[in-house]
Amino acid sequence: MLDLKDPSLLRQACYIDGQWVGADSGETFPVTNPAGGAVIAHVPRCGAAETERAFQAADRAFATWRETTAAERARILRRWFDLMLTHQDDLARIMTLEQGKPLAEAKGEIAYAAAYVEWFAEEARRAYGDVIPSPARDRQIVVTKEPVGVCAAITPWNFPSAMITRKVAPALAAGCTIVLKPAEQTPLSALALAELAARAGVPAGVFSVVTGRASAIGGVMTGSPLVRKLTFTGSTGVGRLLMAQCAPTIKKLSLELGGNAPFIVFDDADLDAAVAGAIASKYRNAGQTCVCSNRFLVQDGVYDQFAEKLAAAVALLKVGGGLEEGVTQGPLIDEPAIAKVESLVEDAIAKGARVVSGGKRHALGGTWYEPTVLADVSRDMEVAREEIFGPVAPLFRFKTEDEAIAIANDTEFGLAAYFYSKDHARVWRVSRRLEYGMVGINTGLISTEVAPFGGVKCSGTGREGSKYGLDEYMEVKYLALGGL
Ligand code: ADP
Repeated sequence: MLDLKDPSLLRQACYIDGQWVGADSGETFPVTNPAGGAVIAHVPRCGAAETERAFQAADRAFATWRETTAAERARILRRWFDLMLTHQDDLARIMTLEQGKPLAEAKGEIAYAAAYVEWFAEEARRAYGDVIPSPARDRQIVVTKEPVGVCAAITPWNFPSAMITRKVAPALAAGCTIVLKPAEQTPLSALALAELAARAGVPAGVFSVVTGRASAIGGVMTGSPLVRKLTFTGSTGVGRLLMAQCAPTIKKLSLELGGNAPFIVFDDADLDAAVAGAIASKYRNAGQTCVCSNRFLVQDGVYDQFAEKLAAAVALLKVGGGLEEGVTQGPLIDEPAIAKVESLVEDAIAKGARVVSGGKRHALGGTWYEPTVLADVSRDMEVAREEIFGPVAPLFRFKTEDEAIAIANDTEFGLAAYFYSKDHARVWRVSRRLEYGMVGINTGLISTEVAPFGGVKCSGTGREGSKYGLDEYMEVKYLALGGL
């Protein structure tokens, strides 16, 4: 029905302890295509009992998986990587159908998701420890790294594959086992990844996927004493709740939460480069990424010119279904998402913002929203504080560097920030003063498996990808050898 080359990648069951299973109750829930709303599949609506079993299996599997050599784990991960690329077209198609993003972007995400698997296959063999010069003659101090243990992962719908592999690949590389709950909107990409992991030789119980009731599954993930670590990507509100739920059992946590990225354009910027960066960082995935620019801060002298050039670039974006040729803007994920965007834009207009482009739902209907540019935006409007998660670029005006920094940092979030300037001294100065985990300087694209992704303040804790990403799944153990 989905027109896949390998139809067995479309799994409508959970993958628990190496078995494809339904919910105990037999219940399922539908997965729909955001482009038009058609039902494309049904997956099990599991709850606490199935999740408990997944963790018991993960706990049993941990005993043997932790004893495998790094090279053995690396070979399995490498095979998983190869399989993802072999099936890139089908995986991308499944993603576009359940998530809505244009097929070219979906293919790009599969390559990006696979890159995490390849990277951590390589990093598995470099989990080095330390030998520390001893303060006493009869002592040797050695530091080793060990897998944290059984892990739990909860992922969002905006990157249905990459948010999974950047958690599961380092967990497996470190020698941990992991149970995943994907977002309700996009379980099919997760289940297809599980199918390929099984084909790659990941043993039963090492990686399980449970779909269903978020709060029931999350309750076990955060409450079970078997689980040593929770890794979550999603909203700050849910992150806060999960963190509190993890407190009684003191779990290790990685949280990648909301953002409110500033994109600062200084007078000395290369404006054409800034516009290209703005398009890439704002309109990718129809604005539904946590590192999407949320506030454009443009210096007085180039404000009008930047607005004009940005509007011209936005006019070239093509809105439509993700499977259609040449489309760059798919629908938003669901009705609540578009209702939020609509209300943020209405609030801005009511408070004096000027619509430069777009500004309303798209004529296609459904959950398509017009790529939008708003000028004369001020800090009393909701767009200044709220994560838009849609294709809307609000332009704020500033006069001095100090003012830009103050506006940029005036948020509870601290994930990604961007700025454009050709002045070297300013580049260093501004980079230091931005309270963000990641700063794109003269670029609107920062995500790569080789660099540490993560935020500060209410944007979360921990880093994904890079050499730092493996440490999140390892504990440091100190051995003191006395009496030498
Ligand atoms: P988004 O706005 O991106 O949907 P959410 O934080 O609501 O962000 O969702 C991210 C992930 O968190 C999804 O997999 C969702 O099912 C899950 N989730 C939401 N609420 C809970 C909860 N109470 N317990 C566990 N997981 C939850």
